[in-house]
Amino acid sequence: MVEQPIEEVEQPVEQPIEEVEQPIEEVKSFKELNICDSLIEACNRLGWTAPTKIQADSIPHALEGKDIIGLAQTGSGKTGAFALPIIQAFLDENSPQPFFGCVLSPTRELAFQIAEQFEALGASSGLRTAVLVGGVDMNQQQLALGRQPHIVVGTHGRLMYHLTNTKDFSLRTLKYLVLDEADRLLNVDFEKALDDILKVIPINRRTYLFSATMTKKVKKLQRACLMDPVKVESDSKYSTADTLQQQYLFIPAIKKDCYLVYILSEMSGSTMIFTQTCDATGVLALMLRNLGFRAIPINGQMPQETRSGALNLFKDGDCNILICTDMASRGLDIPTMDMVINYDIPSISKNYIHRVGRAARAGRSRVAISLVNQYELEYFLQIEKLIGKTLPVHPAKEEDVMLFLARVNQAKIISQKKRKEGGKNKRKGRGDDDGDEVEKWQNTSKGNRGGKTFKKSRR
Ligand code: AMP
Repeated sequence: MVEQPIEEVEQPVEQPIEEVEQPIEEVKSFKELNICDSLIEACNRLGWTAPTKIQADSIPHALEGKDIIGLAQTGSGKTGAFALPIIQAFLDENSPQPFFGCVLSPTRELAFQIAEQFEALGASSGLRTAVLVGGVDMNQQQLALGRQPHIVVGTHGRLMYHLTNTKDFSLRTLKYLVLDEADRLLNVDFEKALDDILKVIPINRRTYLFSATMTKKVKKLQRACLMDPVKVESDSKYSTADTLQQQYLFIPAIKKDCYLVYILSEMSGSTMIFTQTCDATGVLALMLRNLGFRAIPINGQMPQETRSGALNLFKDGDCNILICTDMASRGLDIPTMDMVINYDIPSISKNYIHRVGRAARAGRSRVAISLVNQYELEYFLQIEKLIGKTLPVHPAKEEDVMLFLARVNQAKIISQKKRKEGGKNKRKGRGDDDGDEVEKWQNTSKGNRGGKTFKKSRR
């Protein structure tokens, strides 16, 4: 199944936005941003010695009580940019109320990551958080709400469920509303939920809207939330990080697997491979595992628990190759990414920026390689136009690559057979889908961690 983009609807923008393209002055420390000592200590404990650009640009306005529209690349520290002023305001309250802030996230994984950052920054301040997302037990969430958290992070469907059904849960005292990855939030369901949420939260609140790009959707949300924002733009809209080496290989569709294996065997480190369909994540993962690679799939068709399991295996280093759809290209906090491979070229050019953003974090030098076949050339040319760069070819000698052909073909046959058997078992109710594969890894990964890789097995 191809994960569909959400349709954009052109809307006029009614409110003028105060644009702040540059920081007001060169800021070098959290202290100079007027962040309080206890929060600076919390930042230091996380290894945040200085604010990132989006933090330096937006926090002074947030602390002045302004609404913010923050545009920044993925991995730029935008969670800190909204979490720090909210926690500082929480600390300034004499007796802070529960349900002080609410963050809406487009995905479940991102919701957990945002809550983790709030918890890490607010650990010594008694800040309590609750995560309200689908795919997780309702009773547990009701218990968490019973503990009167200060910050609620959720996806709109589950948040609305609890607002409607959970006794004593309301957002009447809310001081801060955050819409993260705002350009991904707007679909018909979300619009309805946001309308309902806006009816039950105070008008007198601050609203922060963060997004990688400024789209018509973001403007629509700004209007819906009646914001009077300062717009902070840390990077040009469609740029990719300078520290990212971007390359491509133009190859026939039939040779893609062989080139993929060649690249993986030549390069080391953690890698994300993007495919266009959910099914392809599972097929590729099986093939790569048959070749001794530590690969795991993640896609939107897996149950939430399995998705989190896959992500944790990757984050913990038990698997170093994550194969995913565009679902994972936004918002997931995977700090140790070294390489992104576009196994399929995205038909929506902006998705390329989000994908390669996974490998362009915190100023470290990383690589993104796109495998372009004859049918995808047009998409690739559109991407080059969007980023304003002509990308160089990744160096690879055809004869070196073809040394892998026999084993890649063999691994493909085995994985196709396994998928077929898995499909049959599934029909018989025994199940053997990508989720089961993740579970198998969870059970065996500790033992395999130092195990044979394809590179070693070639020697
Ligand atoms: P985000 O863009 O919010 O997903 O953050 C991406 C990564 O940057 C996370 O791993 C954060 O822990 C990290 N981060 C956020 N702020 C800072 C900072 N000021 N210095 C260093 N790392 C940071």
